[in-house]
Amino acid sequence: MPVMKVLQVSAEIFPLLKTGGLADIAGAMPRALSAAGCEVRVLLPGFAAVLEDLQELQPGLELTAPWGQGVVVRRGRLASLDLMAYVIDAPQLYLRAGGPYQDAQRQPHADNHRRFALLSFAAAELACALDAEWQPQVVHSHDWHAALASAYMAFSRARQPLAVVSVYTVHNLAYQGLFAAELFAELGLPDSVFSVDGMEYHGQISFMKAGLSYADRITTVSPTYAREIQTPEQGCGLDGLLRARAGVLSGILNAVDESVWNPAHDPLIPFAYDARKPAGKAQCKAALQQELGLTQRSDALLFGVVSRLTEQKGLHLVLTALDAMLERGAQLVVLGSGEAALERALSDLAAAYPETLSVRIGYDEQHAHRIFAASDVTLVPSRFEPCGLTQMYGLKYGSLPLVHRVGGLADTVVDCTLEDLAEGLANGFVFAEFSQQAFERALCRSFALYARRTEWNRVRSRAMRQSLGWENAARQYVALYQDALNSL
Ligand code: ADP
Repeated sequence: MPVMKVLQVSAEIFPLLKTGGLADIAGAMPRALSAAGCEVRVLLPGFAAVLEDLQELQPGLELTAPWGQGVVVRRGRLASLDLMAYVIDAPQLYLRAGGPYQDAQRQPHADNHRRFALLSFAAAELACALDAEWQPQVVHSHDWHAALASAYMAFSRARQPLAVVSVYTVHNLAYQGLFAAELFAELGLPDSVFSVDGMEYHGQISFMKAGLSYADRITTVSPTYAREIQTPEQGCGLDGLLRARAGVLSGILNAVDESVWNPAHDPLIPFAYDARKPAGKAQCKAALQQELGLTQRSDALLFGVVSRLTEQKGLHLVLTALDAMLERGAQLVVLGSGEAALERALSDLAAAYPETLSVRIGYDEQHAHRIFAASDVTLVPSRFEPCGLTQMYGLKYGSLPLVHRVGGLADTVVDCTLEDLAEGLANGFVFAEFSQQAFERALCRSFALYARRTEWNRVRSRAMRQSLGWENAARQYVALYQDALNSL
């Protein structure tokens, strides 16, 4: 079979720029798809870290944005990923203080519609052979930042036949890229697109809706989330459209990049270990307790949280249960950043319980790895969770996940019920109803299993051996690309 040429379009990519799981997936997918027989290039906005990593530059490609701004698309190789990339060099749009989406005061950049429309516009131009030397067959875009690619491609296809398919992956339906209607004129799309059948959403423009309306194939990051987003409860107002497009919508479970997340070869943790030789895990726990000033107790059940601090993540359940957890001898280590009120509440509690609770506000890749390596349980009580990666990292590092049965959490974690323990299926703790009581019952199950150490070790060993790598997901994406190309 000839190689399939895939252009991956995203705002973030690990290790260059990361605010959440999207970056991990964007960073791992090119290698996984290459191993499955694709030739992958990526298109990224020219954020500083990305431009700095770009080497072996070839002559740039000139492009005029729909609003008349001239930019250059750089071509080269990303050194840290050994990957061919197109990078939009537009310093006025991408080089500024703050994060990729927000300014230093955590307000969205006022021209985000331009910053990300341009990403999609460039993708569609590449689909139309902007680069005479390389034209993709598949444009695979991720989340609202790259969602307009499908719309631009649909309308350039209307002008000229295009043998290129658009695939759009929803990593989180809650972030939609909504903008005021008057900005629509800047996007350079036909007037008909600003309609209820296009990207109009309650009088605004929705980048997410454009992706869902115009992509040839829609995927999301777990089979359960693919079903959930078709319901009014979890559809964020787009469930009707998603039901209408159910024939081209599917869920492909995210995977773990084992070159980054593997306790046997992880330069960010102090002691290596694996399922066969788990002793290093206890040493990682002792080292973290010491580093953070927690009481040095090997038998304290250590809970870990590595998370954005937002309403979605359900952490108020942990705050409410905290006293009871600590009274039972547990310890808790938190790493996160996000909503100011949650950051404050966590920091205040940490000051009150210095020997049993550690809270670090901020973003710290190394600390994240150390928490998974040291902890016994990874808490992910999310209200909703498209896939979730931290529970999978918990599994790999032998930190049994405790999760709400929703989205990808439901697809990856099996509760320690007696029957699933007996059948060797259990790998964590799952609560079904999103309530304090259900969460605390799951906590009780984790304490109960920890008291039976032989059984705990058996479950942990099984969790660590579970296959969570990319081969399966990559195979499914390739089959989906092929199917979309066959339908052209
Ligand atoms: P989401 O994409 O909703 O944030 P995921 O579980 O899919 O949630 O992915 C989160 C990713 O971000 C994981 O790689 C996790 O380790 C990482 N992460 C989250 N918060 C932090 C933080 N404060 N410091 C370091 N890594 C973090």
